[in-house]
Amino acid sequence: MKKRSIRETDVTGMTVLVRVDFNVPMRNGTITDDSRIRAALPTLQMLGGSGAKVVICSHFGRPGGQVIEEMRLTMVRTRLSELLGAPVRDAGGPSGETPAQVASALSAGEFALLENLRFEPGEEANDAEFSNHLASLADIYVNDAFGAAHRAHASTVGVAEHLPAVAGLLMERELEILGKAMIADASTSPVVAIVGGAKVVDKIQVLWHLSEKVDTILIGGGMVAAFFVAKGHSGGAALVTDEDAAAANGLLESGRADAIIPVDVITAPDFSERSPATTCEQSSVPNNQLILDIGPATAKKYSEVISAAKTLIWNGPMGVFEWQAFAAGSEAVARAVAANKMATSVIGGGSTAEIVGSLGLVDQITHVSTGGGASLEFLEGKILPGVAALDDAP
Ligand code: AMP
Repeated sequence: MKKRSIRETDVTGMTVLVRVDFNVPMRNGTITDDSRIRAALPTLQMLGGSGAKVVICSHFGRPGGQVIEEMRLTMVRTRLSELLGAPVRDAGGPSGETPAQVASALSAGEFALLENLRFEPGEEANDAEFSNHLASLADIYVNDAFGAAHRAHASTVGVAEHLPAVAGLLMERELEILGKAMIADASTSPVVAIVGGAKVVDKIQVLWHLSEKVDTILIGGGMVAAFFVAKGHSGGAALVTDEDAAAANGLLESGRADAIIPVDVITAPDFSERSPATTCEQSSVPNNQLILDIGPATAKKYSEVISAAKTLIWNGPMGVFEWQAFAAGSEAVARAVAANKMATSVIGGGSTAEIVGSLGLVDQITHVSTGGGASLEFLEGKILPGVAALDDAP
């Protein structure tokens, strides 16, 4: 069901509570990547421009319901203010009386930011009292935190029971693009999903759900071993349980999407950066070697499939991309996805976003999802509680 959007809602003169995901990477008190703050700007600017009084809230890190000085949103507020080109008041809190005082003192078009929501134990517990407190700060609630939509917390679910609740522009875009990418029809086909990552257990639900929706799935990452075993080959030194192999076999035999597995792989005797790399054919992985990347013939084959796609969904690296010797497969796939200018390309998952980011290819991708866990759950076909809690579109 489509959700009501902020675009269809008149907020003039209203106080709006906006849930964003400002859980940005930080090192030694400095923000190392402000993309998540930038991603929320369209919604915040639209609200400010419409004359709303904008109360912003976000979680940051895992303070576990207590105040941790290093997890205050002070740096985030400064950066947000710079990017908005407008002051952002400190709304304090997140509980207590200060937020309401600051909110009621805002003029039309002004912004305030609450302190880290997870300083309050009621946030992650989806506590009714804290939900009520958040709702009492505003006339309407906007959720633009796609990255937190898979969590049923007070600021993503509880608060929506008490206020008109609508999707922000980022939330709307995430849902629209991810949703559309998973429907193979005349306008989107061929839809090719590329799925990698560390373990088959983490991705089997994604594979299973996608196999119902897309035309082709290209398989990489740590789960390749399970697929080799399912095919009757050696999976090398990795532990492949009967359950993993059965899951892989189930997908290959399902007759759903065409699941393509590597024809060759890069292996090494140890799980370490400097372990000597060897290229092996699909059927000849030695029992004492670990599969750590897809091989060059596979990278070429996958790139060809990618270049013919009209829609591309990529979640999970093809190999241990953090180590140079095992990064070539992920890099080849990233370049092929970026080079296909005819396709709508969608990237989900933190590692995958990191790969395209480090190669400077973000601008050549249609959409890099801001939600790691949330995009994964979306691709698994799960209902995201933070989305379900929003009002349905009229
Ligand atoms: P995920 O978050 O599930 O997408 O997994 C990302 C992680 O998977 C990265 O840290 C990669 O290093 C890891 N990974 C990818 N391929 C392999 C592999 N063949 N063996 C072990 N880990 C892998």
